[in-house]
Amino acid sequence: MDATARLPLADLLPLTAGLAPGGHLALGGCDAVELAERFGTPLYVYDARTLRVQCRDYVEAFRSEYPQSTVLYASKAYLSRPLARRIAAEGLGFDAVSGGEIEVLRASGVAMETVYLHGNSKERWELDLAVEAGVGRIVIDNEEEIPLLGEAASAGGRRQGVLLRLSPGVDAHTHEKTTTGILDSKFGVPVATGAAERALAAVLEQPSLDLRGLHMHLGSPIVELEPFELGIAVMADFAAGVCRDRFGVEVREFSPGGGFAVGYAAGDPVPPPAAYARAIASAVRREWGERGLPLPHISVEPGRSIVARAGVALYQVGARKEVPGIRTYVSVNGGMADNVRPAMYGSRYEALSAERPTAAPEETVTIAGKYCESGDVLLRDARLPRLRRGELLAVPAAGAYQLSMSSNYNLSYRPAVVLVEEGQARLLRRRERASDLMALDVEPGPGDAAEAAGSSRDE
Ligand SMILES: *Cc1c(COP(=O)(O)O)cnc(C)c1O
Repeated sequence: MDATARLPLADLLPLTAGLAPGGHLALGGCDAVELAERFGTPLYVYDARTLRVQCRDYVEAFRSEYPQSTVLYASKAYLSRPLARRIAAEGLGFDAVSGGEIEVLRASGVAMETVYLHGNSKERWELDLAVEAGVGRIVIDNEEEIPLLGEAASAGGRRQGVLLRLSPGVDAHTHEKTTTGILDSKFGVPVATGAAERALAAVLEQPSLDLRGLHMHLGSPIVELEPFELGIAVMADFAAGVCRDRFGVEVREFSPGGGFAVGYAAGDPVPPPAAYARAIASAVRREWGERGLPLPHISVEPGRSIVARAGVALYQVGARKEVPGIRTYVSVNGGMADNVRPAMYGSRYEALSAERPTAAPEETVTIAGKYCESGDVLLRDARLPRLRRGELLAVPAAGAYQLSMSSNYNLSYRPAVVLVEEGQARLLRRRERASDLMALDVEPGPGDAAEAAGSSRDE
């Protein structure tokens, strides 16, 4: 690898990104063009070293600022069994938000007591599954859930550890679709309306629930540290004024949530893990200390910041359409089916040619997806060399909320996933094929209706 040539977008690409001997983009010591030839496109490439370093940075940052801390990976960012095993090996636990995520975590063999279940409308079967699987904590999101979970835990013969998720009424200044800590949100029990206090009383009435502490999650990505500090002050007030003073309960555990930022586009502000750790640790010490409360164990929940940078999406360039004086569209063989974030949140990305990553930009184009929606645009006004049909385009920071939100829209095939490490590429998930699109169809026939309507649990 030629270490002297300067790779553009180096801050967004995986840590191992470089130039292969032929001048192509290299990831994990593998030539990206060879990966695309071998596994097809679109292709999602995860770099093992970046994944490991992101895990370690978070664990070490929080451990050194606040020894009584746990890092949980928010699985919804992207989950597969091999990934879960690697993340668990770095000492992280997991957030799950569905029965499906619990099943995949269980099948991957990670310790279920390190799993926390979230969700603003958990179903009874999911609560039963969580209790049976032995998840460490269930994070109660609303008042209705309390008797339902109380029943599920006693039916399962367990005293279930729970946290109560409060909505502190703090604006984290993120996208309206990803803000969760404000009063007008579907997540969490509001402190301001008195609902939180009622919920606390209701949890304490359930003998099968062991209230371990409180939770908040303000949204994502959060680039400012102040919302965490404001939220932590609200939580400490509740821990002292309500939990201790009115109910005589100690808040032994506290989670300030996740939502730590990553770089998607050049110049995106990305506080390092140590900055979040320092701000959170000092706010907890200060706010808990000022109220004479014993310090809680804290758990943080990074999702995107663990996996986003490790992933790169590789696409092949297709049709080009020039609308003189208006815009040039360059289409690629992926788009909103594998990355819905630009269409859904207006997310910005960057791209580079994987065949000539150091080529100078020559034109401004819009990179469009291939799906039948005008809103299927991946990048607006990207400065790129003039791309040829068939050329390989790389989009960095593709590891989070892309595959996990992917669909078969237009009956497209979900991409293959490979893990690269020290020059070796390992297929983690094969590309879908036509039979996958039809595998779940049930031909009409006697007895099939019951199966089609049946439970999601594997028997
Ligand atoms: C989604 C979510 C996270 C993770 O958010 P990221 O932006 O991926 O870090 C953490 N905690 C909760 C409760 C969440 O819902």
